[in-house]
Amino acid sequence: MTASPRTDPAASAAAPSVACRFCRSTAGDLVLDLGDQPSSELFPPRADPGPDPLLPLRMWLCAGCGLAQLVGADDVAEEPLGTEPAALARQRATALQRLVADGVLPPGGTVAEYPSPHGGTWLPELGAHGLTPVDGDGPADVVVDACFGMMHAPDQRAALAERAARLAPGGALLLQYHCLGAIVDGLQWNALRHGHYAYYSTPAMVGMLGEVGLSAITAHRYPLYGGTVLLAARHSGVPDAALAEVVDGEEGSGVRDPEVVGTLQRSVARTATWLRGTLEAERAAGRRVYGYCAASRAVALLRVAGLDASLLTAVADASPDKQGRRMPGTDIPIIAPDALVAARPDVVLLFVSDLADEVRAALPEIEAAGGRWVDAGAGR
Ligand SMILES: [Zn+2]
Repeated sequence: MTASPRTDPAASAAAPSVACRFCRSTAGDLVLDLGDQPSSELFPPRADPGPDPLLPLRMWLCAGCGLAQLVGADDVAEEPLGTEPAALARQRATALQRLVADGVLPPGGTVAEYPSPHGGTWLPELGAHGLTPVDGDGPADVVVDACFGMMHAPDQRAALAERAARLAPGGALLLQYHCLGAIVDGLQWNALRHGHYAYYSTPAMVGMLGEVGLSAITAHRYPLYGGTVLLAARHSGVPDAALAEVVDGEEGSGVRDPEVVGTLQRSVARTATWLRGTLEAERAAGRRVYGYCAASRAVALLRVAGLDASLLTAVADASPDKQGRRMPGTDIPIIAPDALVAARPDVVLLFVSDLADEVRAALPEIEAAGGRWVDAGAGR
């Protein structure tokens, strides 16, 4: 591999040799290095004082197939916790309407869904459309991996080949992912986290599908997370103009260029400095700062900013599974939304900006009591 040390030469020099999780190429570039980080999927009980185990967190961009991927740290335990946000359910409804309008979904037949550690399912809506879940591991007319499941597979070639092999003749594979073009455009470096082995650009995905004998036929990009793509593929078919538009858009973002994708690295220190400075100023002014959404994307952000409970008193989350735990790698506790309201915070940092409308509507008491919602990533 060609190491491109940008902030931490020692760590990069020590990076192990890499073979692509899809094409097995060893040619590529380290584009983002967040150093050692705790697992973003294991929220320790509050009574467990730590220290939490740390593992390197790095993204490598394959020069062969263009897949951006997590390197090293293949054995991080995941403990699925969480509640599916309403924003995701709305995204699903919108995407399904489009699939029906485009004629991608057959009026009946069978469906097989790959589960995701993120939770969520398309089966109820697909069932309402006339598709019946297939028995066991048999072939299906529609194979769906649309809750960000496949990125959790360490062997990406095996995962995609398995999904392709499940397709009945004439069937359609539906894949949904937070696209690399959106990560690059939005400087969303904290999309990188343990347990997420692959970060797909649509140009790379089209090529990967070809390698497993499928043709991408259509795709649409939705605003969720700055850019979420739902793509459909079949054993044979002609790509439509909508697919070309999504591909061209991401090519324009420079998703194959390691120098461009590497701009994520420069955003890390900027985001961290802004966040820490903002919280120190609030504390100096005697204001109380809390956070909302104990999301895995908040974990590395808290750590690179060096935050603790003296700067960020607690993070609220709607998932009962996360309450009573703490943010990995810190002493910051996770509390229930009711406790957040009762604390009458002056500032609430929101770690998932897509949820802004949802949380303001759910917790009007925050602003009614004079509190402010602030985007935790505003300093990118
Ligand atoms: Zn590759």
